[in-house]
Amino acid sequence: MARPYDAIIIGGGHNGLICAATLARAGRRVLVLERRHVLGGAAVSEEVFEGFTFSVCSYVVSLLRPWIIRDLDLARHGLRILPLDCSFSPLPDGRSLARWGDPERTRREIAAFSPADAEVYGEYGRTMMQMGRIVKPLIDAPAPRPTSLNPARLVEILGHARRLQALPRSLRTRFLQMMTMSAADFLDLWFESDVLKAPMSVSGIIGTYQGVRSPGTAYVLLHHYMGEIDGAFRAWGLAQGGTGAVSLAIAAAARAAGCEIRTEAPVERVLVRGGTARGVVLAGGEELYARTVVSGVDPRLTFLGLVGAEHLPAELCERMRHFKLRGSSGKVNLALDHLPEFTSRPGIGPHMHGDVAIAPSIEYLERAFDDAKYGEPSRRPYINVVIPSLSDPSVAPPGKHVMSCFVQYAPYHVNGGAETWPERRAAFGDTVLETLEEYMPGLTSAVLHRQVLTPWDLEQEFGLSEGNIFHGELSLDQLAFLRPAPGWAHYQTPVAGLWMCASGTHPGGGLMGAPGALAARAMLAEGSL
Ligand SMILES: Cc1cc2nc3c(=O)[nH]c(=O)nc-3n(C[C@H](O)[C@H](O)[C@H](O)COP(=O)(O)OP(=O)(O)OC[C@H]3O[C@@H](n4cnc5c(N)ncnc54)[C@H](O)[C@@H]3O)c2cc1C
Repeated sequence: MARPYDAIIIGGGHNGLICAATLARAGRRVLVLERRHVLGGAAVSEEVFEGFTFSVCSYVVSLLRPWIIRDLDLARHGLRILPLDCSFSPLPDGRSLARWGDPERTRREIAAFSPADAEVYGEYGRTMMQMGRIVKPLIDAPAPRPTSLNPARLVEILGHARRLQALPRSLRTRFLQMMTMSAADFLDLWFESDVLKAPMSVSGIIGTYQGVRSPGTAYVLLHHYMGEIDGAFRAWGLAQGGTGAVSLAIAAAARAAGCEIRTEAPVERVLVRGGTARGVVLAGGEELYARTVVSGVDPRLTFLGLVGAEHLPAELCERMRHFKLRGSSGKVNLALDHLPEFTSRPGIGPHMHGDVAIAPSIEYLERAFDDAKYGEPSRRPYINVVIPSLSDPSVAPPGKHVMSCFVQYAPYHVNGGAETWPERRAAFGDTVLETLEEYMPGLTSAVLHRQVLTPWDLEQEFGLSEGNIFHGELSLDQLAFLRPAPGWAHYQTPVAGLWMCASGTHPGGGLMGAPGALAARAMLAEGSL
């Protein structure tokens, strides 16, 4: 029998790779097994059409923890982040709003819609920063253990409570409102202009099967607000070479530390003997052994797919069956012959170098959700567009462009399950183009190729159960000590020697890396590895 590894990581998504790199740098013998031919999971670049490289799924880098970038020396391993300076919202009536890195420029743009909003916008940003500082330590450390009587854990919880207590009273109230309100209601407390509120509200609903008026979505605004590049809150960027460049830099750091990585190596099941994980079985029957097995795939797939209910407490299986995945997003990637202009702001200007939100009003967004609530893709969806080829010419042939369109809503179960996504995929792609055409005439005729990904495709191709982009919704009932289940929020599982390290664990989904790094630290601290 071959010498067992110290750790086998199932899945070469960015979290699995970060976990692997951290363990390998601590001197452990580590093997990563990735099902696809390419590393990165949802953080992947692929040349889908000759000459055109798409960030196939994840398209902006904003949440990646700075301490991980530093610890793994990702810049040395090739990572370059190109900042996005603008959030642009075209309107169907020919007007538009652009929010820039420059506060004065943003103030002038907002004032055209509401002088009052222009005045309060800066204060809103500062308040979110202050509240972000309360939450940030939570996402950079293991989840609190509210029921633990261990003095060290109690001190941690007191620390969080103290930070909240130290806020001025008005801010404490805001914080509590944010934990319970809908994104739209929370923004109503600050602003009057729908043109401003709509594109701001959407970060509350990304990856969830909820509308901007659904209670609980305001907190997610903050989660997305914590993006940091070079220490600037709410900064967004593109990875040079596409989002996959992040994963490849992490993989390079892992390999440099001696980690072995195999692609096209799908794990069929975790080998459990006597209640302990001993290794994995690959789809072809090959058995590989390790002292520790770490799952980098989502919790439902881990427990109900790779481990099996017979090895688990019935209560956990039941929770996994009810874990809210219910994917609600899709992606349309376009290869363009040339770049059409927006009617509302002619010219290929700096407004196109940022992200573009098709979110003209709160009512538009809520109607988009109404369609999804009853099992239909939105007739007019929320679309977040970036055009990476404008900042990074390496991703398209000279003069051509790639356009990445994140789309919501696309419910996993179409028409209550009566229809399938393969039947509806082309129509979904058409809806996205028709919607964009209203703002950017001539787009459809500029399309050379298109890739349309529905929640079903995300499940089939990327292993995301029900197509959920975050391995489980980021709703309050599924965060912190409840993620993925109460009692199992610290990367360990009921199977001895089996750990979890991906987005379905604390602090959650997005290209953040914290679950992978925190899980590795927890394993090393526990001492069995
Ligand atoms: C369409 C889309 C757009 C997104 N946009 C953004 C964005 O702009 N910014 C952002 O921050 N986040 C975004 N996200 C979310 C973010 O990309 C994910 O939350 C994150 O990449 C998940 O990383 P992970 O390592 O936890 O898991 P994954 O990336 O899901 O990695 C899991 C890996 O396991 C592999 N795997 C599955 N089953 C097996 C098996 N049986 N054996 C071996 N390997 C297996 C998979 O192939 C995959 O590589 C987006 C996600 C999607 C889908």
